[in-house]
Amino acid sequence: MEYKLADRVGRMNPSMTLAIDAKAKEMRQSGIDVVGFGAGEPDFDTPAHIKQAASQALAQGFTKYTPVAGIPELRRAITGKFERDNGVSYAPEQIVVSCGGKHTCFNAMQVLCQQGDEVIIPAPYWVSYTEMVKLANAKPIIVPMDESTGFKMTPRQLRQAITAATKIVILNSPSNPTGAVYSPKELQDLADICLEHGVYILSDEIYEHLIYGRARHRSPASFGSEYQAITIIANGFAKAWSMTGWRLGFCAAPLPIAKAMTTLQSHSTSNPCSFAQKGGVAALDGPQDHMQEWCAAFQKRRDYALERLQAMPGVMCCKPEGAFYLFPNISGTGLDSVQFCELLLEEQKVAVVPGVAFGADANIRISYATDMATIEKGLDRMEAFCRVHT
Ligand SMILES: *Cc1c(COP(=O)(O)O)cnc(C)c1O
Repeated sequence: MEYKLADRVGRMNPSMTLAIDAKAKEMRQSGIDVVGFGAGEPDFDTPAHIKQAASQALAQGFTKYTPVAGIPELRRAITGKFERDNGVSYAPEQIVVSCGGKHTCFNAMQVLCQQGDEVIIPAPYWVSYTEMVKLANAKPIIVPMDESTGFKMTPRQLRQAITAATKIVILNSPSNPTGAVYSPKELQDLADICLEHGVYILSDEIYEHLIYGRARHRSPASFGSEYQAITIIANGFAKAWSMTGWRLGFCAAPLPIAKAMTTLQSHSTSNPCSFAQKGGVAALDGPQDHMQEWCAAFQKRRDYALERLQAMPGVMCCKPEGAFYLFPNISGTGLDSVQFCELLLEEQKVAVVPGVAFGADANIRISYATDMATIEKGLDRMEAFCRVHT
């Protein structure tokens, strides 16, 4: 029997990363020692005081519906976070708490985009952006970037991509998959162009705290009230507090946009999980000591892995300044990203994600959100692989 699914299903691409992931899992189950560099989440546990706050809420019966956009206590804590970390003031009504940063981005696309709209997405991009744009009936306009600009979109590239139909530019700094971080100047130059053309910025700042060396995070909303008025900040608890499974994200947006996102959410998920929200309050208002420790660990792993990659034949790698990914260029091996990943898994039992999934077929994504011994072992194997294939 043939089922007649909605057109929008045909517009979505199945996740290209899943095939490799499924194969890696299958191999592991049959007893093969597979090294996994595919993880999109920190390997650390959620800090204890956050778990405690949620389990206490659960024990005390905080298990019912909450206001759709989040409990007042959490929305206030989030406005405090924006003051403290980003130097931007928001009213609690401008904050919408959702079921993850991904849900936040999805909601933003749904309330802003329609048929005929274009959304500029610099590539390499996070896999879900393009699909979210298409699901909102808008058209993704991909701006390809590479190592020559450190995977950062230049003002010239942005100007060339903007048309009368441009509605939104998506910025994600620090970036998944490249780890690139825009400097304040670079960011302001892009924001100026958006301001000039009346284009909104969706700024996905989920990795803002995972940043190394001299790089600093800056939100485009912090450049002044006129910038704040065109910016939707998407953020969440998944990465900096290692709460990927809690499904808790949030945004700060101009009031009409926040209101529309709340209405949309009231007809889809309603409020995000009640007791998870209590954990969110503890995450923002509690101690942040873990962050320094995690960043130090991530930086050590990045430095080690980068040095190893740069010494491999056929491989070239930019220095990422944030997040927990490396995005080496493997075109020197003569393989495309899917061939590279399939052969690497088959021959050396190392799982990485093909760059083509992020719109960059010359690269692969390596997550270093795993322990040092695993990183060493995986890179030893990858080095052996590259020796054979160059
Ligand atoms: C992880 C991630 C998110 C948010 O993930 P959630 O688990 O939905 O909070 C958003 N954007 C990027 C680029 C990410 O890597």
